[in-house]
Amino acid sequence: MKSLAALLRTAGQPTPYRQTRPLELVEIDLEKPGEGEVLVKVTAAGICHSDLSVVNGSRPRPTPLIGGHEGAGIVEEVDSGVKDLKPGDAVAIVFLPSCGECEQCREGVPAYCSVGSAANVKGELIRGGSRISYKGERIHHYNGVSCYSQYMVLDRRSLVPVPSDLPIEIAAIFGCAFLTGVGAVRNGAKVPAGASVGVWGLGGVGMAALLGAVVAKASPIIAIDPVPMKRALALELGADIAIDPSEDIREHIKGGVEFAIEAVGKASALKHAYESTARAGTTVTVGLPAPADQLSFSAVSLVTDVKTLKGSYLGSGDPRRDIPEFVQLWRDGKLPAEKLITKVRPLTEVNESMDELDDAQNVVRQIVQPH
Ligand SMILES: [Zn+2]
Ligand SMILES: [Zn+2]
Repeated sequence: MKSLAALLRTAGQPTPYRQTRPLELVEIDLEKPGEGEVLVKVTAAGICHSDLSVVNGSRPRPTPLIGGHEGAGIVEEVDSGVKDLKPGDAVAIVFLPSCGECEQCREGVPAYCSVGSAANVKGELIRGGSRISYKGERIHHYNGVSCYSQYMVLDRRSLVPVPSDLPIEIAAIFGCAFLTGVGAVRNGAKVPAGASVGVWGLGGVGMAALLGAVVAKASPIIAIDPVPMKRALALELGADIAIDPSEDIREHIKGGVEFAIEAVGKASALKHAYESTARAGTTVTVGLPAPADQLSFSAVSLVTDVKTLKGSYLGSGDPRRDIPEFVQLWRDGKLPAEKLITKVRPLTEVNESMDELDDAQNVVRQIVQPH
């Protein structure tokens, strides 16, 4: 079938993207869903920083590709082997399918699935190959998803069913920003009630981490970002203190924070987060710096300050367990995800959305609608 989609032919084109238009709106061809696959009508797709990193080339991925990895939609058609989803069901899309059989999946952390990860790096679905072509040419998937498209064929294992009354934009941001941000707090850092938490970078993932810290009853919570609008929103969402990165965190929290969550995606921010972590504290990074971005700090501090520095990917948990929990927390008013959505616009404005995210001044999370 045909579907209007945003095609990235070459990464690293100059900004502003509203002029160079690296994401070209074209009519792609989609294959029918193969074994274990599902055709999804995409109704909301988030503009996440790692989408921008693919467009600007700092996160190299095989091109040409259809972008977008944070999305949600409605099941349109299923392969006969898919028994637990039917047309009309609402689904959140998860950007790392889990095979269920590798060591990481067997150990209960499908977010680290090595088979899904290898397929993502190749730009393929987990069963291999792509279901997308344009004028006869094979087009890569991005992270097993490619949701900047009206329709997409996805592996069943990339989908988590959600209730039909959950606003679809919220289902979309549960699939990346919330899995990553809340998961970093709950599963990655394992923040206990009463512990101090610092969150570096108040984009979608950082704000979700902040909400995760509020749910965990962390105290105090300190939000760090150079943009005043984001600091104001952080205070509204439950941060106790919000500061510019140039301020000394120890003037607010003596000794530093017990847990630091870094969601900026720059080694300099990770260094700042690590150095602002208290003795015996834990720094968790979820940002995705460019591969050449090197981290340096006093190596001996790991021992003498008994610190832990760790990474977390896709929330270090199980999306099939975590997303239904987010839905319940949202119903209880504890995860007001809608407050993170700054703007909803049509897919045809995806290049303008990338400019706004690149500028970073006015947006937390933007959603594009392909229909
Ligand atoms: Zn993302
Ligand atoms: Zn696996």
